[in-house]
Amino acid sequence: MYFEEELKVIDRWKYLRQSLFRNEEPEVRLVAVTRPVQDYEDQNVTTETLPAFTARQSHESKGTHADDLRLNRKLIEWGHDTPLQAVQFVYQVTGISKSLAGQWTRHKIGIGWTFRSTRYVKASSNTFVYPALEYIDSEDTVREVYSVYEEEHRHALEVYNKLLAKGVNNQELRRLMPVGWSTSAYVYINARALRHFFKLRLAYAAEWEIRRLAYIMFNRVMDVSPSLFEDLVKK
Ligand SMILES: Cc1cc2nc3c(=O)[nH]c(=O)nc-3n(C[C@H](O)[C@H](O)[C@H](O)COP(=O)(O)OP(=O)(O)OC[C@H]3O[C@@H](n4cnc5c(N)ncnc54)[C@H](O)[C@@H]3O)c2cc1C
Repeated sequence: MYFEEELKVIDRWKYLRQSLFRNEEPEVRLVAVTRPVQDYEDQNVTTETLPAFTARQSHESKGTHADDLRLNRKLIEWGHDTPLQAVQFVYQVTGISKSLAGQWTRHKIGIGWTFRSTRYVKASSNTFVYPALEYIDSEDTVREVYSVYEEEHRHALEVYNKLLAKGVNNQELRRLMPVGWSTSAYVYINARALRHFFKLRLAYAAEWEIRRLAYIMFNRVMDVSPSLFEDLVKK
């Protein structure tokens, strides 16, 4: 597990959120990754070594699996990033806020999403992502703040349901909801773009929720292709 301490800091009040009104915590699943077809798997090419294997075109060279892992690291060191586009990841992410979605979708290159549509999906069963409030030390204060958020969330849903009963459409009703309203998405991203996302969003300068997401996404991908991302831990 990477960034364990950082995650612990952000989620220091997670236990207080468990029983809050319609609280949802983030979950991240790695759904799919690019995999070489059988002929290339038979030559020991794996998801992880695809960048180096394809980059060898420039010298028409061949290497062992271990050579290709080493070459991956070299490509990254040299900034020879294009071969990283050989590997595509698909994640499913739930329990993130609309606020996070607004920041995330500013990333444009090598990344795309399918988000839950609040035009088609009713809000009646929807949840909220409460703030972490990790910078507040007093548990009593945090409890008080969370109860104000709860109040606002209950109120927003009450108004939502009131207008729903009058026949107002979902696409107008969603305007009533706070940016802490939860959403979920499948995200499609190649290894090059994922590294760029990590560089910006694992950094302390990044906002806490997208940083928390980046930590979790990072851990998932390190299970599959560590040589493509491990240098970012040191940085
Ligand atoms: C800590 C932090 C704070 C931020 N605060 C704000 C804020 O207050 N307000 C705000 O509006 N946004 C803010 N952003 C968003 C930021 O400005 C970027 O839009 C976002 O991080 C996406 O980065 P990107 O453009 O590098 O990524 P991508 O869109 O994925 O682009 C990847 C790379 O492709 C290249 N590229 C992409 N588009 C172009 C282009 N049109 N021309 C030339 N090269 C291009 C660049 O090299 C870029 O780095 C913030 C981001 C961070 C990390």
